[in-house]
Amino acid sequence: MLAGGFRYETHPQRIVFGAGKIETLPTEVAGLGAKRALIISTPGQQGTAEDLARRLGRSAAGICAEARMHTPVEVTDRAMAVLTKSHADCLVAFGGGTAIGLSKALALRTGLPQIVIPTTYAGSEMTPILGQTENGVKTTIRSAQILPRLIIYDVDLTLALPSSVTATSGMNAMAHAIEGLYARDRNPVTSLMALDAIRSLGEALPTLHRNGSDRNARLQAQYAAWLAGHVLGTVGMALHHKLCHTLGGSFDLPHAETHTVILPHVAAFNAAGDPAALAAAAAALRGEHAGQALYDLAVEIGTATSLKTLGMQEADLDRAAELAVQKPYWNPRPFDRTKIREILGQAFEGMRPA
Ligand code: NAD
Repeated sequence: MLAGGFRYETHPQRIVFGAGKIETLPTEVAGLGAKRALIISTPGQQGTAEDLARRLGRSAAGICAEARMHTPVEVTDRAMAVLTKSHADCLVAFGGGTAIGLSKALALRTGLPQIVIPTTYAGSEMTPILGQTENGVKTTIRSAQILPRLIIYDVDLTLALPSSVTATSGMNAMAHAIEGLYARDRNPVTSLMALDAIRSLGEALPTLHRNGSDRNARLQAQYAAWLAGHVLGTVGMALHHKLCHTLGGSFDLPHAETHTVILPHVAAFNAAGDPAALAAAAAALRGEHAGQALYDLAVEIGTATSLKTLGMQEADLDRAAELAVQKPYWNPRPFDRTKIREILGQAFEGMRPA
């Protein structure tokens, strides 16, 4: 990698990491030069959003707890009305990728600065990317205006994260790190981050499966999510993310669960395209074969391992393969429709990669 040279463009963000750091929220809002923050969450997190509003006192402009998965444009339209009425001059998103998606969509329309308090491991807070849906079609936008200015990673807010979300959003972070490791535009720093994310998730997720309130494992998973999110926001992803985008966007499969099922199969396939990267990933997972190690990890932490269990119909696999090859994109190993159909077939059945 060094001999070929590299280009590394970082984003202007401030990261505040540690137990109890939520206490800095009022200072951070003021530090942005803002006076009134609209708090964004999903309906399930409304109670904690209200706690945040109390913490902000007069700096709280209101709460919008209407975020929905895949950021439907009609939800953003309704949230825009709440935002306008609130006269907020900054956004505070609390929750996972769903809450952050709504905050990003509002920032895109208004240019307001965002503070994000992530409570899952999906990593959206670290990227200038917004995926949104309109009339059932998912589109992706990349813009500096979408990038959150400040992230507060407070482990205390993740202790109640349900076991299933912990496992699958952790595997979503793993997917960013695995694809970052073989990205065409990777650099020595993103590779270090990706490897440490893989190693940390490989250690933390099984511990959290046994005991979700293990603080050290929660800290380790959150640290890994930050690293993996940074990698996702910095380098280009490949076949795995493309397949998951197709399956989520066109077949309405759940985001993090789909990543968990597909990742072992794409990692196994790509091992012949970038043997060094996948060998490093396997070693970080203390395995010999990255695809098998990822599959075994998914089994160990109790997630679904087949598309069948996620509700995919076998009759749709041909169309999914067709859609996935419609637009060309880079991957460390060339592929065609037949190969994609084969990978999808294995993922459909939930077979352990060979
Ligand atoms: P999510 O935000 O939908 O959260 C999953 C569930 O966990 C929700 O029901 C939520 O209410 C609940 N939850 C979250 N935090 C909790 C907590 N502390 N305690 C209890 N429950 C909690 O899931 P996700 O996997 O974080 O995000 C998925 C979404 O994010 C998708 O729409 C995906 O497209 C998007 N995403 C975007 C990017 C990007 O860079 N743009 C990256 C990753 C994911």
